[in-house]
Amino acid sequence: MTKNIHPSIIALDGPAASGKSTLGLRLADALGYLFFDTGIMYRAITWIALQRDLDLRDESAITILAQTAQIDIRPPSVGDGRACDVVIADKDVTWDMRDGNVEANVSVVSAYAGVRRALSEQQRRIGLRGKVVMVGRDIGTVVLPEADIKIYLDASAEERAKRRHDELIARGEESDYREILRKVIERDRIDSTRAVAPLRPADDAVIIDSDKMNAEQVFEHVLKLCTM
Ligand code: C5P
Repeated sequence: MTKNIHPSIIALDGPAASGKSTLGLRLADALGYLFFDTGIMYRAITWIALQRDLDLRDESAITILAQTAQIDIRPPSVGDGRACDVVIADKDVTWDMRDGNVEANVSVVSAYAGVRRALSEQQRRIGLRGKVVMVGRDIGTVVLPEADIKIYLDASAEERAKRRHDELIARGEESDYREILRKVIERDRIDSTRAVAPLRPADDAVIIDSDKMNAEQVFEHVLKLCTM
């Protein structure tokens, strides 16, 4: 688990909607570290592919896209709940990353070995600079196996779907709990059964089941682990 007193690389993995981004952001803020959400990169590739009407089953076309796409991820320029700005071809497409169509297809795109290779290399390069909280599915297992602390944030699919549903309602958007639950379960299934870098806790990860914890409790718990 903790290999040194002041962790420089914190890997934070877990299934869809487990609260990784909320936790990661607060943690990075408290420690003065960079917050890096790797899911955004997979979402951005999926979004561009959909925009260009590429066949998502065409692994080589999607891989070339992942190798060549210019995606800019910058600190948030607007205080509308975003963790970062996502800029593609000079356009702010931050909220497009949450689009239902992206969400429905991202797990297919992220299962391609070539896509993973292209994106993980960039993630690793950034992560190795240190002072980073990197969030994803395979950070502790593949991208940064040397991370000082590995957290695997879990919660039941029902609890995660409920949180996502409540979030959407709070933002004034329409939401159907059953539908969200179905999608969360499907995304977990694809992410955890793919051949390359499947979603799973690293052997040396601290597993946190947040079903009976609120965001504050999870944050306090993890911050303690990181500053012990
Ligand atoms: O974390 P988020 O829900 O934004 O991730 C979107 C999708 O990107 C995941 O469902 C998964 O398919 C993929 N992903 C991944 N590896 C990562 C981060 C995300 O495969 N490190």
